[in-house]
Amino acid sequence: MPDQRLFFALWPEAEVREALLQQLSVGPQVKGRRHNPNDLHMTLVFLGQLQGRKLACIEQAAESVSGQRFELSLDHTGYWPRPKIVWIAPQSTPEPLIQLVDGLKQQLAGCGFEPERRTYRPHVTLYRKAQRITPWQLAKPSQWPVKEFVLASSNNPAPNQSRYKILQRWPLA
Ligand code: ATP
Ligand code: MG
Repeated sequence: MPDQRLFFALWPEAEVREALLQQLSVGPQVKGRRHNPNDLHMTLVFLGQLQGRKLACIEQAAESVSGQRFELSLDHTGYWPRPKIVWIAPQSTPEPLIQLVDGLKQQLAGCGFEPERRTYRPHVTLYRKAQRITPWQLAKPSQWPVKEFVLASSNNPAPNQSRYKILQRWPLA
């Protein structure tokens, strides 16, 4: 699998995806590229490109993490100028989400992954390559009951195709 980047993420089910699309439809016009609905996700840990043999270690790491279910309230929007993305995010990060990310990082250290130094900032990208916008107020937050996490890969897709593929899923208790 050449040129394939891997990452752990939360992937919304159809209902949550619909809620996010609804938010988009009532949000402001944004000059940028909207994510394909199937591509909406929240990255947990980015792994990048890896050697084939590491995959077994990564799967083992995911297996070893004992995460709990939790509920996300995606309640505010924003813009980051460096990656040029418009996002929606929870104002407060639920404790089980922090534990899930920390747990994954701890396990992944055993596979040779350097832990990310930056603080984890959970968000769902809505637009890529976007021009600066002023964050907008949501009429009501989108609730997301999180029951699993996934390992996903990003490929370089043809236009209008999904950028990402879910490779494996792990349930939360
Ligand atoms: P592209 O880089 O081709 O424009 P992309 O950013 O969507 O597309 P990836 O770079 O493979 O694809 O990233 C996959 C996911 O991991 C995205 O959610 C991205 O925001 C996140 N990500 C990428 N690089 C990092 C990083 N260094 N640290 C944390 N998250 C990252
Ligand atoms: Mg990228």
